[in-house]
Formats: sequence, C-alpha cells, structure tokens
Amino acid sequence: MQFPQKHTAAGTTIFTVMSALAQQHNAINLSQGFPDFAIDERLANLLGEAARTGFNQYAPMAGLPALRQAIATNFAQRYGLTIDADNEITVTPGATYAIYAAFTAVLQPGDEVIVPEPAYDSYIPNIEMNGARVVPVALQAPTFAIDWNKMRDAITPRTRAIIINTPHNPTGAIWSKTDWDELANLVRYTNIVVLSDEVYEQLVFDGERHYSVLEHAELRERSFALYSFGKVFNNTGWKIGYCIAPPAYTQAFRRIHQFLSFTVNTPGQYALAHHLANETRPTVGALMQQKRDYFLRLMRDTPFTIHQPARGSYFQIASYERISNLPDMEFAHWLTERHGLATIPVSAFYSNKKDDKLIRFCFAKKEETLTDAVNRLRGIETIA
Ligand code: PMP
Ligand code: GLN
Repeated sequence: MQFPQKHTAAGTTIFTVMSALAQQHNAINLSQGFPDFAIDERLANLLGEAARTGFNQYAPMAGLPALRQAIATNFAQRYGLTIDADNEITVTPGATYAIYAAFTAVLQPGDEVIVPEPAYDSYIPNIEMNGARVVPVALQAPTFAIDWNKMRDAITPRTRAIIINTPHNPTGAIWSKTDWDELANLVRYTNIVVLSDEVYEQLVFDGERHYSVLEHAELRERSFALYSFGKVFNNTGWKIGYCIAPPAYTQAFRRIHQFLSFTVNTPGQYALAHHLANETRPTVGALMQQKRDYFLRLMRDTPFTIHQPARGSYFQIASYERISNLPDMEFAHWLTERHGLATIPVSAFYSNKKDDKLIRFCFAKKEETLTDAVNRLRGIETIA
C-alpha cells in the first residue's frame, strides 16, 4: 500500500525522538516541553468531582458553556477585553489541534503562508497537509526579532495567512506592541488572516507583559488566537486548549472542528471551568521566572553560552560553540547518550534545518531536576 505524502517533514517529530532517547539512556529530560511537578490539588480534585457527579458524556460542540464563560471572564479580568463566550470561543483538544483546525478553515491548495522561523514543528506540516505552500522568514539571532523588510518582501498576492508565536518557542522572544502595529501596516489592504499562537501568554518574565493580538482592535478582526491550558495549569497531558476568533471566523473554525474531534473531554472541561473561575491571580509566570533564573545561574558554571535570557516561555536556548563543532542534531544525541541529558537541537525548528549550534533546554522543572541536569554539564569535555 502506498500512502500519500501529505507533508515534507521527514520521520517522527523531534519531541518524540528526544523524549524516547532520554528514556532509553535514562537521561534527564529537558527536551520536550512539560513540567515534571504536581498539578494543583484542587484541580485534581475537580477532575474526580466531575467524573463522580455525572460530567461524563459529550459536552456541546463549542465547549462546556461554563468553561467558555470562565475564559471570557478571565480575559476581561486580565486584559480588559470583551469576548463573546457563545460566538468567539471554541474549546479544543489542545492548541496543536486548534492551529491545524484554523489552518484548515482558511487554506486552499496553492495558498501561501508566512512562517517566521525557527517555528514550532507542527506549523509547516499543517500548512502542507492543506495543500498550501510555506514561505519561511528567518528571525534575527540573537534576539530573534522580526525583520520587517524581510516580512514585507515575503508577501505576495497568494499570501493567505501568517502565523505568529509570542512568547516564542524555542527562543523565548516576545512581541512588543510595536510589532503588532508593524504587522497591521503590512496586512491592512490584504485579505491575510493571522494565526496567533499565544500558548505561553502567561509565561512572561522580568516585569514585561504579553501583548495579545486580541488587544489590537484592527488585527483582532482578522485573527485566530490559540491557547493551551497545559501551559497555565502545568497539565500538558490534559490536552485542552481553545481558539478565540471573531464570530465569522469562529463559525468557519467550528465547521472543521465538528468533524475532527466534535468536542473535548468533558470532565477536564468541568475541572478547568471551576478552577479558572477561582484562579483570579495567575502565578505560573512568577514560578517559571524563578525556574529560568535558577537555571541561568547554574548554567554560568558550564561552557555553554547564553546570548539572550528567555523573556518568556518554558525554554532557554544556549550555544555549544565552545564545546563542539558537531551539527546540533549529533550534539544533542551525544549529550543524551554520553552525559545523560536530553535537549532539543534548534535546527529541528527550521524547514531548511539551519544549524546555528544551538540547543533548547526546557526549564519548567523542579529545582532538583535542573540541578541534577546542569551537574551533568560541569566539566564537560570538548568534542570535535
Ligand atoms: N504552540 C506552541 C508554540 C507550543 O510550544 C505548544 C506546546 N505543546 C503548542 C502550540 C501546543 O499546545 P498543546 O499541547 O495544547 O497542543
Ligand atoms: N510544545 C512542546 C515543546 O515544544 C511539546 C509539544 C509536543 O510534544 N508536540 O517541547
């Protein structure tokens, strides 16, 4: 049987590859992005309560009304935004799914989509699975800011969408208000749709703040904003997220969603609805900042170079230029096999596998995990 090649990504996603390699070598896993500590006891209890009190059948297609309402209230409290829970919010099985559904709602074969790179590894396959073409635009190391001239040059009459990710995986860069204004200038007289992947919106450090596409009144009218509860309540395995978009966009999104998963795990939605409603002051940003700082302090005693501390997200990228000339994929394998520490080679986030000798560490871990991990890097030998 010959199966059709729906996208150009070779092999298995890097997150699966590196987590499996970590397991195989009994390595500490700072590769795939997930916390290694317990979730809030109250949230765990709510999940049990949902199952015991009968929230075990299909939820409505758009999501449990209590959860959509809690999301709307939460955005009103945190951003001062008015969001219509019935017509602008759709609960999804995670943000990866929401990104795919949004692309599928928008794209037709032959369309072009602009993707700033490095980029989360599902974007490009998702675009290609819809018969559209990827137009990559390189971000500028070491800050990984957008080069607006390059962005302008990438736009053609076939450009149908652009995907933004702030705070950014893997670089930890964040967008300023000016970036959104620049984007608005570029797309103003086009029919380009914006997908704004904001899964790390609550993980912004050093007193900076996240600017959502939803706060930009002009862009909001042409945008899908995508979120993931996993990054807010440290429960990535629950795989529950949501999409916020204007009513017409939400309708198009639901036309796809109703025939993809139709709806999302009901007890999980119940638990999140009640937890979110009681959780008015977010704490995960401060927690992750402490972890980033702890990790950065430890890394000072290693030969890795950190050109730019992460401003947000779960991730810190570091250069191994003083240790090795190996390609980053080989280096990441060597580090796992030889030193028992798994990371992600940053070339995995580029369509052309651009290799800048950078690896990505996930610091969303217990302090003892970070200590053990960095201990394995002390006195690391150089390797040609
Ligand atoms: N976008 C980015 C940038 C991510 O890092 C992740 C991490 N998993 C996702 C989307 C997907 O989130 P989810 O686990 O909810 O699918
Ligand atoms: N977002 C996580 C990361 O970048 C993992 C997501 C996944 O495993 N697909 O590591």
